[in-house]
Amino acid sequence: MSDANIRDESTKKEWSPNPVTLGPQNSWPPNPLKLFRWLFGFPGYLWPENLLLLGITLATWAFLTPDLSSMQSFEVWWIALIFARNIALILILYGGAHLYFYVYKRQGESSKFTKQPLATNSSRFRFKSQVLDNMFHTLAIGVPVFTGYEAISYWAFANGFLGFIDFGGDPVLFWGWFGLLIFVAPMIHSIIFYFVHRFLHTKTMYKAVHSLHHRNVVVGPWSGLDMHLVEHLLYFSTVVAQWLLALHPVNALFQIHVAAIYPITGHLGYEKLTIDGKEKYDFDGYFHYLHHKLFECNYGTATIGLDKLFGTFHDGSKESQAALRDQIRAKRKAAA
Ligand SMILES: [Zn+2]
Ligand SMILES: [Zn+2]
Repeated sequence: MSDANIRDESTKKEWSPNPVTLGPQNSWPPNPLKLFRWLFGFPGYLWPENLLLLGITLATWAFLTPDLSSMQSFEVWWIALIFARNIALILILYGGAHLYFYVYKRQGESSKFTKQPLATNSSRFRFKSQVLDNMFHTLAIGVPVFTGYEAISYWAFANGFLGFIDFGGDPVLFWGWFGLLIFVAPMIHSIIFYFVHRFLHTKTMYKAVHSLHHRNVVVGPWSGLDMHLVEHLLYFSTVVAQWLLALHPVNALFQIHVAAIYPITGHLGYEKLTIDGKEKYDFDGYFHYLHHKLFECNYGTATIGLDKLFGTFHDGSKESQAALRDQIRAKRKAAA
């Protein structure tokens, strides 16, 4: 009997996922062999998620983006065009994941974190439906916000307002820098997200802004971008790092796509993709699922383990839970 079947044996109990492990990039001293495997193995840092994402970015840039020279001034036609294709992208990816796991239930409850369903007929959510409310904040607020960041990026590159680093026209240095910024984009996302997210958990910000996202205790793909306008503005501000560093607009687009697409796997509600009873791929969503379940842990992502550094990492084990409880008690005592 496989490990999967043992864990899935009871129909009464919830699925018990494997404890979260952080990759070798978060260990010191570094282990070169493990690092190499993490970088180039399957599943690893590059393949499949980030390279698939890069494929989406390159195809979007090549086939679905107007020529940069035509975006020197803000005009309705090209902004509407990128807005429409962003809506389509999000509908295909988020809608596709929702249909697969929650409408057609293609893998049933296998590796699903909780048996609790997404909320329906609940006054906590607009239209009384968690999914419709999640979709509303994603499509009516999230997509306009990241389309805005994208439009500003193209406009600024087209006018020569960005591209501060001077390589003297050397193509090797130019494309080397381009590749390096693609490589570090998920790390930039992980670092900025950690600090933005901790800020969102301060008392005032939580009450006014971030509590909206945390209405999703049970999560589904559409919960990923279910955010308040202010949170969307902060969350997608990772692109500003590329405004300062990049020489090519594709770097900015990739940074935006990382932010726009990552939340699907983080909020899927399933640990693994299972086909014909066989576990095919770990979505790495348990890390963020624990944040929704327990609140005061796992603020960042597993790519750069800042939670480990700052003592907020929870791997899902009883030991982590005891440590978190002690930490909360100490914090309350200090505040009293
Ligand atoms: Zn949070
Ligand atoms: Zn979340």
